Amino acid sequence: MFDFLIVGAGFAGSVLAERLASLGNKKVLLIDKRNHIGGNTFDYYDHHGILVHKYGPHIFHTNSHDVFDYLSSFTEWRQYEHHVLASVDGQLVPIPINQNTVNSLYGLNLNCSELSDFFKSKAEKKDYIKTSEDVVISVVGKELYEKFFKGYTKKQWGLEPSELDASVTARVPTRTNRDNRYFTDVYQSMPLHGYTKLFENMLSHPNIKLMLNTDYAEVQNIIPFKSLIYTGPIDSYFNCCYGKLPYRSIDFKFETFDTERFQSSGTINYPNTQPYTRITEFKYLTGQKHPKTSIVYEYPKAEGDPYYPIPREENTKMYKKYQLLAATLPNVYFTGRLGTYRYYNMDQVVAQSLTLFKKIMHNELMQETEYKSSMIKIEENNQ
Ligand code: FAD
Ligand code: UDP
Repeated sequence: MFDFLIVGAGFAGSVLAERLASLGNKKVLLIDKRNHIGGNTFDYYDHHGILVHKYGPHIFHTNSHDVFDYLSSFTEWRQYEHHVLASVDGQLVPIPINQNTVNSLYGLNLNCSELSDFFKSKAEKKDYIKTSEDVVISVVGKELYEKFFKGYTKKQWGLEPSELDASVTARVPTRTNRDNRYFTDVYQSMPLHGYTKLFENMLSHPNIKLMLNTDYAEVQNIIPFKSLIYTGPIDSYFNCCYGKLPYRSIDFKFETFDTERFQSSGTINYPNTQPYTRITEFKYLTGQKHPKTSIVYEYPKAEGDPYYPIPREENTKMYKKYQLLAATLPNVYFTGRLGTYRYYNMDQVVAQSLTLFKKIMHNELMQETEYKSSMIKIEENNQ
């Protein structure tokens, strides 16, 4: 009998497998329907010997000392600050929009406070910021919104920005300085030997048994376990009884070139031209030296592997129903991007699973205390 059956070997499931196994007295079975660990962060060396990310570019960044410290037990790091350019009006300019972006685009030479005034003159006042359109237009106005956000968002989500929660485009700030970095987090590093290696180290504990190519649906009635941790899509756990939660998927198209460099930045975004959203060149991210270079194009689509929960009110309402149902199940826990239907980055998923670990420990302690006091009562009654 396993103490825990964990479904999904991505960050959400693997962090819990590692934490529970480290207690020493818990046996964990970790399953994944895919043929590899790491979930969507899985990386591997392609035919040319170049390290690539199977499910699109994954750049690690966090402000959480605890998360960084925890993951540092399983990997060394390579410092890496991601830079993204957007192909707009025939130019490649930095995104997030900043001083360099506006000055290049309009042939200006604005300083910080002049740019602030420029944005104010363009911004459209909104009483209430509700959608992804409001977020951008209320800061930089319609023109920049249309150049950088409208087309990209439509491609990425299959929806107008006005149909998406504000939180989606709010991930990309607007700056008045000249900081060209995509992220400003305190910790910005890539696992030195890749994500898969990090996961191998994380899952090496003898109390963790790993079964790949194993769908939960096939084994749920065969494998005996006391508690379940589920990191797959929460609606699929409940056979979509309240309806299917929508997810956005992506086709990843890889190419390798016989040159050392393909493009001038780790990622280039294509908001208004091309059917893909962005191209990423992996060697920027990994720091690998190689005479060739591999890139990935991202073509968003509706059907396929569920990669992105879609943040909008009607979906949140449906998720809340599943969440309430989940709360009625004893010893079943949901975590992760799919398990809790949240547009979370890797570090947020790690933090969420570390928090869940504490909750599970608390529950176990309570159950043990209840069990002990009921045993004492039985003994007292028998005397
Ligand atoms: P997943 O990694 O999706 O793992 C869930 C696992 O559960 C999967 O392996 C799946 O096969 C398995 N599973 C599902 N159902 C079943 C079942 N029934 N039986 C068995 N197994 C099952 N985050 C960042 O911080 N930085 C980035 O740069 C970044 N870039 C991203 C780019 C893309 C294109 C995508 C899609 C995501 C990106 N993310 C990024 C987000 C990151 O991938 C997630 O935050 C993180 O991987 C989520 O981990 P998870 O364990 O919750 O889910
Ligand atoms: N976005 C955009 N233009 C860009 C970059 C981002 O419109 O050049 C919007 C788009 O809606 C995207 C969201 O901002 O889905 C979040 O961007 P991020 O780069 O964080 O997306 P992810 O890396 O998670 O795919």
